[in-house]
Amino acid sequence: MDYLEGLNKSQRVAVEHIDGPIMVIAGAGSGKTRVLTYRIAHMMNRGIDSFNILALTFTNKAAREMKERISQIVGDQEAKNLAMGTFHSVFAKLLRYNAEKLGYPSNFTIYDTQDSRSLIKSVIKELKLDDKDYKPNSVHGRISSAKNNLISPEEYANNAEIVGEDRMSKRPLIYQIYKMYMDRCFKAGAMDFDDLLYQTNVLLRDFPEVLHHYQQKFRYILVDEYQDTNYSQYLIVKKLAAVYENICVVGDDAQSIYSFRGANIQNILNFKRDYPDFTLYKLEQNYRSTKTIVDAANSVIEKNQDQIKKNVWTDNNQGDKIRVIRCLTDNEEGKVITNSIYEIKQGQGLQYSDFAILYRTNAQSRSFEESLRKLNMPYKIYGGLSFYQRKEIKDLIAYFRLSANSNDEEALKRVINYPKRGIGNTTMEHIIIAAQQYDVSLWEVMSDFNRYPCNVNASAQKKISDFVRMMQSFTADLDRVPAFDLAQRIATTTGLLKTLHEDKTPEGVTRYENIQELLAGVKEFSIANKNSENNSLSDFLIDVALMTDADDESEDDKNKVTLMTIHASKGLEFPHVYVVGLEENLFPSQLSINSRTELEEERRLFYVAITRAEKNCTLSYVQSRFRFGQLITSESSRFIDEIDEQFLNFESTYSDKGTSGRSLNARRGLDSKFSNPAATGGLSGLSQRRLKKVNVNDISSTPSKSGGTTTDLKVGFNVMHDRFGKGRVTALEGTAPNQKATVFFPRVGNKTLILKFAKLEVL
Ligand code: ATP
Ligand code: MG
Repeated sequence: MDYLEGLNKSQRVAVEHIDGPIMVIAGAGSGKTRVLTYRIAHMMNRGIDSFNILALTFTNKAAREMKERISQIVGDQEAKNLAMGTFHSVFAKLLRYNAEKLGYPSNFTIYDTQDSRSLIKSVIKELKLDDKDYKPNSVHGRISSAKNNLISPEEYANNAEIVGEDRMSKRPLIYQIYKMYMDRCFKAGAMDFDDLLYQTNVLLRDFPEVLHHYQQKFRYILVDEYQDTNYSQYLIVKKLAAVYENICVVGDDAQSIYSFRGANIQNILNFKRDYPDFTLYKLEQNYRSTKTIVDAANSVIEKNQDQIKKNVWTDNNQGDKIRVIRCLTDNEEGKVITNSIYEIKQGQGLQYSDFAILYRTNAQSRSFEESLRKLNMPYKIYGGLSFYQRKEIKDLIAYFRLSANSNDEEALKRVINYPKRGIGNTTMEHIIIAAQQYDVSLWEVMSDFNRYPCNVNASAQKKISDFVRMMQSFTADLDRVPAFDLAQRIATTTGLLKTLHEDKTPEGVTRYENIQELLAGVKEFSIANKNSENNSLSDFLIDVALMTDADDESEDDKNKVTLMTIHASKGLEFPHVYVVGLEENLFPSQLSINSRTELEEERRLFYVAITRAEKNCTLSYVQSRFRFGQLITSESSRFIDEIDEQFLNFESTYSDKGTSGRSLNARRGLDSKFSNPAATGGLSGLSQRRLKKVNVNDISSTPSKSGGTTTDLKVGFNVMHDRFGKGRVTALEGTAPNQKATVFFPRVGNKTLILKFAKLEVL
């Protein structure tokens, strides 16, 4: 049992304690996930059947990594039998076997967020509600949160408090949308993401024999990131574990960051109530990060009132101080961070994958992408438009979905007239009306116009019938033909491949290649599952529907700089981490700063961000940032002030002399901590030169129009500014390179600009 050598004492005790309820609460990087992984291997070595183990992780990627590690210890064959994955993927598969009990087809479709929103949108329209009051996204949020709290449409409608809240927000009829949305999903044979948990709960509640079966099967249950499970997930686990109570959960209350999705820190407290004789293990030694990072993170999280006290320490080196870099603009931030990555990578012979840039909101990725691209550095964005969200991919997948489930309304609407086959919107509207009138699905109307007469002329009926017949021929082959052969036939017969092939624009060529890549993916799936009974095209669809961005990773994605939101980074680690955009109203977010609970959640998020770093952590913020189409002056984040200053090293890309607009930070004394660029110790000579070059010539992605002309500027000159428009110089002060000009712009008033940055053109 060599693998036990790779554990410290406390970890080892937790690994060897197999029976009964166990909770491991411990800080970041202390080996919780490692304990879970080794525990599973250990259980198998001790003779527990791998079929009896259920392990729930936060991402499929984490599950894959755990499985790989376990395979190394116990061998491939045994590891294959483990039920391991995210809640959604594990229970989607369980539902596949049981869906018919709930009235769903076993080939039910999984609606992704886009499908859900589009259906909600049409429901709002059909109910003749105003989508300005009833914004589809926020209505979806309400419905999702109801489902995750296991509130059915009926319970929702009868709950005075919930309906009262809706009335207060001027949306009294959400309960009707919820009901109609639920009905439509059901009729379409579709479950949305939340249904995968909701319907699992319904199944385990209403079918005792099913519950009994899975209680016997999953005698050992393990859950990672337990602090972020929501009520619906909590209840599934509780029910399944009720007989044997062999349940091991690991988590960190300080990393609970999903309360907006219904994750409930209460679950940790409930654990004590549900299993009063549970054993609690604490792990305190951090193996991930340097002393500086561990201590800095501790100094932040201790500001939260609401937490279980922990003493996290490490034996690792002290390491470098955390760099705090102050930049002028978001574009400059992009360049400075990218340059820093480039230098450290070259200097130390590292891989691109040793670096991660973490931000609060997806929109922040732009400036980093731009500069990474300019330097030809490979990167991968998680949370952007992933492969499976591209239009052409969704189109082909919609054909797959419709073959597996003819009632899938969202898939049908997507492909009925793509490629064009002369079935227009008006025709479809008539079919939708008829479907409502006869209370059947669109497909049923389309496949039997005699039974469901509607206002569609003979020629359109003929086109529709051809389409129906084509789809039926795919459906007939679903379980007969290998997934890849059928996928290939669908891509060809529907005309999709031909249409894309005819488009010779660069985008068209890319789309065609993407389709080929998807087909290659189906082929891989077919080969990997050759000996399994779950190898049809509909099984492929489950995998695709639950693919998260982090899973969508090909071999050549491996050596790339990672860009992701902090939320997505949970559980991961990187040698060098850049946490960017540390500004008030961005991080902490504007919505959080008026309530202690929400601010504490933001602080936990910051704690998660810092603790991803192994060797180096860099924080950055900018003086002005483009947000929501406006240039916004920002103040540095309070979270920087909250880190014990002894762990920080302040660097700036510009000198305080001759700049304006920092009064906000000056007030807090932060500015005085920065050395000016010439004296910056932390940036190497190369970086110094780069920064200077960046500052002077290239502050924005568009080349400066001003060139040297502004050096000749005089009071009274008319000038043109990129964003503020035309203006007139009213005052000049200082000397180059820090010369400033005050300019009156009729559109925005007086502005004082630093000439070397302002893109002024003399008119
Ligand atoms: P997080 O809270 O961020 O999810 P965690 O508690 O799950 O962190 P792990 O990811 O399991 O921590 O471990 C952090 C790092 O420390 C990993 O690289 C892991 O391999 C390593 N590690 C954990 N325990 C040990 C140990 N006893 N010896 C050597 N390395 C260890
Ligand atoms: Mg972990």
